[in-house]
Amino acid sequence: MNDIVEAVAGLSSLRDREALDFKLVTLLRKFVSTPIKAIRVLALAGETGDQRWLTGACLLAGEAEPTRDRVWVNFNTLPCANDYPDRQSCVVSGQIQYQGSAPCFTLFPTDPQSKAQGVLEIQTADRLDSTSINLVVNVLKIYRNLQGLLDYGEKDSLTELLNRKTFDGAFIAATLHESQRQNLALPDRRAAHGGSYWLAVIDIDHFKRVNDTFGHLIGDEVLVLIARLMRASFRFADQLYRFGGEEFVVLMRCAGAQDALGALERFRACVETREFTQAGRITISIGYAPLMQDDTPGAAFDRADKAVYYAKGHGRNQVCSYPELVASGELTEAAEEFHEVDFF
Ligand code: GH3
Ligand code: MG
Ligand code: MG
Repeated sequence: MNDIVEAVAGLSSLRDREALDFKLVTLLRKFVSTPIKAIRVLALAGETGDQRWLTGACLLAGEAEPTRDRVWVNFNTLPCANDYPDRQSCVVSGQIQYQGSAPCFTLFPTDPQSKAQGVLEIQTADRLDSTSINLVVNVLKIYRNLQGLLDYGEKDSLTELLNRKTFDGAFIAATLHESQRQNLALPDRRAAHGGSYWLAVIDIDHFKRVNDTFGHLIGDEVLVLIARLMRASFRFADQLYRFGGEEFVVLMRCAGAQDALGALERFRACVETREFTQAGRITISIGYAPLMQDDTPGAAFDRADKAVYYAKGHGRNQVCSYPELVASGELTEAAEEFHEVDFF
């Protein structure tokens, strides 16, 4: 009894999702009385019609540490949602599902109330006994409460995008993760990487006018709609933030400059052509810049922000690239800094 209370106390001391998922599978493997062959925390990622399973934690029998999918995993390599109908019915019904015999799979909804849909999947040789099922159900209740607290601290309450506070940590985690991987595996990172990180700052054009003409409530509704369009337009691994006011940030990994421009241009056009029920037409200006080796969140943000500022001064409703503005002489002040440093 004491052991499990101690383990749950350890769970509740965690402040990041990766650690929480890892602790959850480790704890359950230890305390569930039926021997576990594999235990996984899985989440549905992607848009309706093309959803896939992302692994938050996977612990196999005989392995000491859990593993998970990489932060920037290629979406198309993940298993398709449709190939696992039992996981899907677990998510849809919000009920525990039992599948197969020797091995048996028991599926628990990780959060029946939430839009973040997922399952905890436990693979055992024999069916999980009722004491084990009760234990999992109760530990999952605590896990959900902790997820709720993390959401509260990390997400902007209006749009449910990530908030500014989480940006620095996510920036460093994502870029470190990749550069360490590249350092370990490949001596020539630039040749073999096949991709780079880009940071974009998105600012709504003449948003003050929207508030002044239609009122703050309609202004807020526009912010919520823009966030929804962002989620639909960008790829699932792109990290989407509201930095405050009517300013949004995207941190994404792209194959190259054309790819980054393509994604941002698609979003700009998507907003421009959208009829906002109350506010009519809305446009946005976007500035973007590649991250550089040993970059800092503040320096990367400043470069993208300079490009937005340029877009605002040159007609708005456009996407501007910081390196291109520097190359064409439109922005000169940071030219040296840009040329000095290699891309990832
Ligand atoms: P520009 O095209 O140059 O970006 O013009 P703008 O009017 O969008 O820019 P400015 O930065 O001058 O104004 C931003 C406005 O955003 C000011 C403020 O009233 C509004 N705003 C900031 N936060 C919120 C919010 O949470 N809700 C609403 N409704 N409005 C907000
Ligand atoms: Mg602004
Ligand atoms: Mg604005």
